[in-house]
Amino acid sequence: MAQNLCDVLIVGGGPAGLAAAIALRMRGADVLVADALRPPIDKACGEGLMPDARRDLAALGVDCGPDEGSAFRGIRFANWSDRDPASASADFARGEGVGIRRTVLHSRLVERALEAGVRLRWKTHVALGRDVLLNREGCRYRYLVGADGQASRVRRWAGLDRCSLISKRFGFRRHYRISPMPDYVEVHWCELGQVYITPVGRDEVCVAAVTRHSGTRMQQIMDAIPHLREGLSSKDAFTGERGALTTTRRLRRVVKGNVALIGDASGSVDAVTGEGLAIGFRQAALLGRSLEQGSLDLYAAEHEMTLRMTRRMARALLMMDKHAALRKVVMRTLASSPELFCGLLQVHMGEEKLLHLLLHRGVLEAFDVSASDVERAAP
Ligand SMILES: Cc1cc2nc3c(=O)[nH]c(=O)nc-3n(C[C@H](O)[C@H](O)[C@H](O)COP(=O)(O)OP(=O)(O)OC[C@H]3O[C@@H](n4cnc5c(N)ncnc54)[C@H](O)[C@@H]3O)c2cc1C
Repeated sequence: MAQNLCDVLIVGGGPAGLAAAIALRMRGADVLVADALRPPIDKACGEGLMPDARRDLAALGVDCGPDEGSAFRGIRFANWSDRDPASASADFARGEGVGIRRTVLHSRLVERALEAGVRLRWKTHVALGRDVLLNREGCRYRYLVGADGQASRVRRWAGLDRCSLISKRFGFRRHYRISPMPDYVEVHWCELGQVYITPVGRDEVCVAAVTRHSGTRMQQIMDAIPHLREGLSSKDAFTGERGALTTTRRLRRVVKGNVALIGDASGSVDAVTGEGLAIGFRQAALLGRSLEQGSLDLYAAEHEMTLRMTRRMARALLMMDKHAALRKVVMRTLASSPELFCGLLQVHMGEEKLLHLLLHRGVLEAFDVSASDVERAAP
């Protein structure tokens, strides 16, 4: 049986697997990535990279600027489930986001991986049993990284499947030609779920819809939002519908022996957070630092930190999804305080601590709580 040899075998060449391969190769490891599909790999996704994701990609040598897609300056929420529709928007405090077609992002990651010297094997299914086989060829490695997405087989094979599933929803995506282009990512809320619109090209937007109702289709959710029912005609859609599950999942452990999980395989956050890709890139950098120290210990110790705040935000956004009254209150609060909305975005992207936001943006005064009360209560 032919043998492949490498320091690190990465199962899955999606965004997280490729980012990890680049980070490891930049530190001198001999890395082999195997993916069952052929590039560029497409997937149902909102296709928005927030400023934190762009910064982490730039550190890996992947420049995803507006030329690759379309820049956006912040996030706009609109609530259509109330009799008086309300909206609120906030600009990013540091930098711009970029909307980029998933296939373009994948191509840029592949180019950078090749330039860095990563070995890539496409159309290569990895079978996991007593031996690890790449299209029936054997493979010897020091470390194996499971970057094989939410339904990860590596996770089950390594005995890392114990998890809490916090939410499970259904996501869809299509592309439309529109004008004028939005310069925010627009998140439209209604009783059936959310539709978010990301500019991804000169006159192109990615429209993603997420719902907790299993029988509901993308068009039904869009039709529940007057702005989209009138503004987005199905004849302007130029790609077909793609669907995927989106979950919020917390794993007990992400490392066992010489096996580590990364990206959606290692736990996930609901799509409405727009941070799934950013988390994978953050974890790639952490994995690089960990193996540079000669073990997976650092990765095991700090992995949870890469997800914690976004998972909290996911819980809050999912509460808003379920409760119309909460949605109404939050929307009014954000509309009347753009500074608070901007601060929450910073917390979401790890640019600011929640405690700092609470202490310095006047939130506590509104509830007659003093800064020293919070500092005493904080762990
Ligand atoms: C509707 C929707 C909208 C979203 N919107 C956003 C957004 O706007 N912004 C954002 O940041 N995130 C968004 N996300 C989340 C984001 O898409 C995911 O977090 C991201 O794709 C995870 O990347 P990954 O590399 O971990 O996994 P994947 O992209 O799933 O890649 C896994 C790879 O592993 C390969 N593979 C699996 N098993 C094997 C095997 N046995 N052998 C070989 N190869 C294998 C697969 O072929 C695949 O290429 C959204 C998700 C959904 C569903």
